[in-house]
Amino acid sequence: MPELPEVETTRRGIEPHVVGRRISRLLVHERRLRWPVDPRLVAAVTGAVIRRAGRRAKYLLIETDAGTLILHLGMSGSLRVVPATTPRIPHDHVDIELDSGQMLRFNDPRRFGSLFFTADPPETHPLLKKLAPEPLGPAFDGEYLWKITRRRSVAIKQLIMNSQLVVGVGNIYASEALFRARIRPRRQARKLTRTECGKLARAIKATLAMAVKVGGTTLRDYVGADGNPGYFRQKLYVYERAGKPCRVCGNPVKQFTQGQRSTYWCAHCQT
Ligand SMILES: [Zn+2]
Repeated sequence: MPELPEVETTRRGIEPHVVGRRISRLLVHERRLRWPVDPRLVAAVTGAVIRRAGRRAKYLLIETDAGTLILHLGMSGSLRVVPATTPRIPHDHVDIELDSGQMLRFNDPRRFGSLFFTADPPETHPLLKKLAPEPLGPAFDGEYLWKITRRRSVAIKQLIMNSQLVVGVGNIYASEALFRARIRPRRQARKLTRTECGKLARAIKATLAMAVKVGGTTLRDYVGADGNPGYFRQKLYVYERAGKPCRVCGNPVKQFTQGQRSTYWCAHCQT
C-alpha cells in the first residue's frame, strides 16, 4: 500500500511535469472508485492550468487556476507521467492529458483510490479539514507528542499510528522510528518522558525523510522511476527482520502482533 513517503515521492515525481501545464482533456474510464467520480469534474478542470502539485497526508493535490483535484492512491493505486498516446492497460482508470503531450495516468487494480474536485481551498474540503498534523511538518514535534500522550494508556506504537493524532505514520515507519528512539512498542504512551517524546518525534521525521529520499519502500511505478524500489528495505533496522540479528547489537529481532499488525523490535536496544 502506498504510504506517506511513496505519495510524497509521487508528488515530487510528477511536479516538474505538471506545473504550468494546461489540462487539455480529462478522461474518466472507470467512475467506480472508492467513491464514484463526479462526472462534473471533467468540465471543471478542462482547460485549467496546473499551478502546484501539493500533498496533505496521503492525498495528492493537483491545484489548478479553476480549483483542486484531490487524488488518493488507495491500497494499490499509482500515478505516472506517460505520453498521451500510451495504450491503456487494465486498471488504468483516469487520464489527465496535458498540453505537453504527456498525461497523468491513474492505475488502481483494487479501486480503493478516489478522485474529487473542489473549487474552494483544498484544506477546507471535508476529507482534509479535520486531518491531524503532518509528521514532517513543524506542528508535529516532541512537545506535541508529549501533550497527546499524557492521558493515553494505549501502547505508544498504536498511538503514533492513529491518524487522528498524526497522519501517515504507517506500520513500517512506526516500528522503525521506535527502534531509532530506543523505545519499546508496547510502552504505555503516557509513561513516555518528555525527552523520549522529543527523541521519538525526531525519529519519526528522520525515518520518513529517509524513506522519501530513497523513493519510498513499496511503490514501483512512479514517474522517472530512477529510485530503486527495494533500497529503503535494505536500510530497515527491524521491520520484517524477525529472528535476524539486530543491526546495532546483534541479538535476534523480535516480532509480535499488536492491533492486528506485526510489530518488530529489539529487546536489547529498546527500553
Ligand atoms: Zn538491538
